[in-house]
Amino acid sequence: MRAVLERWRPRLPDILDDILATEVPPGIGELCTCGKQAATTRCRDCFQSRLQCPRCLIHSHRHSPFHWAEVWNGEFLVKTDLAALGLTMYLGHDGDPCPSLRSTFLPITYTITHSNGVHCVPIQECHCPGHRATVSQLLRAGLFPATLERPESAFTFEVLRQWDIHFLTSKKGAYDYFQALRRLTDNSGTQKVKNRYRELNVAGRIWQYLTATKRSGLHHGLTLPNRAPSMTVPCFACPWPGFNMPPNWKDTPTELTYIHACELGGDGNHGLQKKRKRDDPNDWSLWEGRGYFVEHAIMKEYLEGIDAEPVPETCSGFKVGRAQRPGKFRHLEVSGVVAVICIRHGCFRPRAMVDLQKGER
Ligand SMILES: [Zn+2]
Ligand SMILES: [Zn+2]
Ligand SMILES: [Zn+2]
Ligand SMILES: [Zn+2]
Repeated sequence: MRAVLERWRPRLPDILDDILATEVPPGIGELCTCGKQAATTRCRDCFQSRLQCPRCLIHSHRHSPFHWAEVWNGEFLVKTDLAALGLTMYLGHDGDPCPSLRSTFLPITYTITHSNGVHCVPIQECHCPGHRATVSQLLRAGLFPATLERPESAFTFEVLRQWDIHFLTSKKGAYDYFQALRRLTDNSGTQKVKNRYRELNVAGRIWQYLTATKRSGLHHGLTLPNRAPSMTVPCFACPWPGFNMPPNWKDTPTELTYIHACELGGDGNHGLQKKRKRDDPNDWSLWEGRGYFVEHAIMKEYLEGIDAEPVPETCSGFKVGRAQRPGKFRHLEVSGVVAVICIRHGCFRPRAMVDLQKGER
């Protein structure tokens, strides 16, 4: 590392000059290529974008309405929404204005959260005879509404895709993700940025559910033979009657039954805890037993039935839990999870995971 840095060090001032050169391009205020107005604006998000007049910038961004613009104020370039320069977004006609628009139809200003920050964009809906409802128009344009009734906030599909991947890989919560989006909008802290954290929580969760439904084929009625509808990927190698076993598998001679054996194992993860905090006690899962967890109602009924039973004494594994420091699980609502996996192929079994209530119980 030292040798590498030594090679870079003498070049650093030049490199910084080059970086600074991209921040203020030459030719500010010269005539735009359209020949009509001075080139005082440019796009921050287009690659190698040239200076243009505001009119040309708006015209070239009908299909990129969430790019940030920069406007020369005489001293420096100010970051701004394209909407502040006059951009309006149109729904229903691939970005073109609806032919049925009247001058009395005023656009509604939406707060749109995109992967590069939070924008304010006036949106003009399609008003053609038989036009779709607002929510449907937004969705077909690639915008996920924050609410179903008269939405004025939406998330681009792009930001929801990115959030989902961050959630699953960098383990980022919606709160931290939105903080980053806020800073991408204004990192100086001097501008007011609309907070859409709560809305992201709802939209992100529904987005993940819908994406899983889409990918599992459930929406198109695809299910695996002889299996309950599920959004999970089961183990295809494990024996499953009516799927990958001979119809007469029950007649297999005793000495050969091992061929059809399904080897399952259970394992716990005590890192997956849920601390006790203020949340909605009536919250429920959209997956309703079609995922990896046991269906909530079945689990609840089971737990009510065993509540009075003493802790099993025969299993040495449970002694681990009892030997733990008392109070260790005091502030936990869920002290971990236990899942059943097929131990040959390492696949999680659908509907075979439960929350632990205390220690290993
Ligand atoms: Zn652009
Ligand atoms: Zn121009
Ligand atoms: Zn229309
Ligand atoms: Zn398996």
